[in-house]
Amino acid sequence: TIYNFGSINLDHLYQLDHFVRPGETMASNSYQCLLGGKGANQSVALAKAGANVKHVGAIHHSDQAIIKQLESLGVDTGLIAQIDVPTGHAIIQLNQEAENSIILYQGANHALTEEQIDNVLSNASEGDWVLLQNETNLIEYTMRKAQEYGVKVAFNPAPMDAELTKNVLDLVDLLIVNEVEAMDLIGTSDIDSTIEAFPKAYPELAVLMTLGKAGVCYFNGNEKLSVKAFSVKAVDTTAAGDTFIGFCLASLMNGDDITRSITRACAASAICVTRLGAASSIPTQDEVTAFLAK
Ligand code: ADP
Repeated sequence: TIYNFGSINLDHLYQLDHFVRPGETMASNSYQCLLGGKGANQSVALAKAGANVKHVGAIHHSDQAIIKQLESLGVDTGLIAQIDVPTGHAIIQLNQEAENSIILYQGANHALTEEQIDNVLSNASEGDWVLLQNETNLIEYTMRKAQEYGVKVAFNPAPMDAELTKNVLDLVDLLIVNEVEAMDLIGTSDIDSTIEAFPKAYPELAVLMTLGKAGVCYFNGNEKLSVKAFSVKAVDTTAAGDTFIGFCLASLMNGDDITRSITRACAASAICVTRLGAASSIPTQDEVTAFLAK
């Protein structure tokens, strides 16, 4: 089982002629409300990749549609607290140049309690994993508890908070970062020196570094691996990283070696970038298998 302590957001998307100006009231050209949040996206990717995933988080008790949607995609929602705090959400303005301007409200995503975390982890078994991003509260506490119960920790520190991340790295078994997060963490400004510096700065840590259309690097002690991305026509890279993380962890938990796990995850995220949307653009296992057989 993988316990994903992650954010759940409602993304309210408005298409506008231009961003709303101070004092202006403007009608929207279109509106969509979509399930989002890195946590929820990664749970969906894990479930589609065939992993046994229990999402741990919180939403407002009135948002039952979220529970239904996650369940229908194969995510176990029994550990999502339903509380009297608004569900995390994003108000997203999209202008005609396809730029966005976003208001984020953390809401219930920051209402996890120590008691909830203790209850979850005291029921975990050896061989289980905990996954965290940086969109929920009590991250260090969760990692310490995981260690106490002998559960492995995967951490995707997104959005990056370098100070928090450096403080918890000794509690992490697998770190997953994209190139911007990697550069922020090391304090470098180009990707080649980051790839060079990372394993020297953190020789004890297993790290997956995703590099967009350039692929993926993996370091673990003396082991160093790089895997090229698949060449596809990208239309929307939203959720590429979340798809990669879900498929890679699902493969590793299934007993696949690191090369096969990364390759399957690259195929899944390559399919993801050819489709519009976030959770809805994440492929199934069968689609990934068919893609790799081509
Ligand atoms: P994030 O979405 O977190 O910024 P990346 O941009 O590094 O993450 O993308 C994650 C993975 O998705 C990459 O390692 C790669 O395998 C795949 N990917 C991303 N963009 C493309 C692309 N344009 N073509 C093919 N694969 C891609």
